[in-house]
Amino acid sequence: LSERLTVGNAGREIAELAATFNEMLARLEESFGRVKQFSGDASHELRTPLTILKGETEVALRWAKTPEEFRNMLESNLEEINRMERIIEDLLLLAKSDSGGLPLEKKPVSLSDLMQEIYLRGSSLREDPSLDVVLNLEVDGEVLVQGDELRLRQLFLNLITNAVKYTPAPGRVEISLHLDGDRAVISISDTGIGIPADHLPYIFERFYRVDEARNRAVGGAGLGLAIVKWVVDAHEGHIDVQSMPGVGTTFRVDLPIAGPSLLGREAIRQR
Ligand code: ADP
Repeated sequence: LSERLTVGNAGREIAELAATFNEMLARLEESFGRVKQFSGDASHELRTPLTILKGETEVALRWAKTPEEFRNMLESNLEEINRMERIIEDLLLLAKSDSGGLPLEKKPVSLSDLMQEIYLRGSSLREDPSLDVVLNLEVDGEVLVQGDELRLRQLFLNLITNAVKYTPAPGRVEISLHLDGDRAVISISDTGIGIPADHLPYIFERFYRVDEARNRAVGGAGLGLAIVKWVVDAHEGHIDVQSMPGVGTTFRVDLPIAGPSLLGREAIRQR
């Protein structure tokens, strides 16, 4: 693939043909490279929990005596298994979306209802619900978009889960939905650890994590935002992010609306 076609003094058509050909080759090379990188990263992500499972099982078989010790081992193994399951599900989703094998089922979806539902599940997103992270939702009326409900739920669940995950207590996560012309604007803002500016351009890439060591403890393979980006693109939307380390992060998504309608303002607060 590294061979290039060179044409010395031949005619313009041939030179153009050669240029097109070289461009195609470069694109092919790039996509082969991406596939290679993707499978390498995927294997690495799956091998880590597998190594932990193996090690813990070996230790338990060798040293555990009491039912309680076996139970502890099984519980910790289950955590790793759940983790692997999540990674595999995310990988399958991204692989299918790449090959176009994941058609969206678009219909009118009430973003207002969807945000409420995700928000109510919010408390269970926190590993320790007693932790002092306040979740706040503000919905400006009824907003409908033409979209795939399952994927939209995943998009916002991923962003809100991240906001909660990367916000130490005491902290706040503000979610808001409002209309701006013919766009629905959803903003998810946290008072968390933030993302350094030099990392921002890469966070939507697959397997990208700002701090590998710390983030593995929080749990995630770096696929969540890649899925977010795919869903946003598939709905002709935009996403942008602003962040300041130690202050917080705001993700802002906008999507085209299906039909304009506005009711009153609603604000719910949950601790
Ligand atoms: P992960 O599964 O590691 O959370 P994501 O693709 O969802 O992966 O996010 C990629 C990286 O972006 C995360 O590992 C984290 O470093 C950073 N990140 C995402 N959301 C936030 C946030 N709200 N606050 C701080 N860092 C974030």
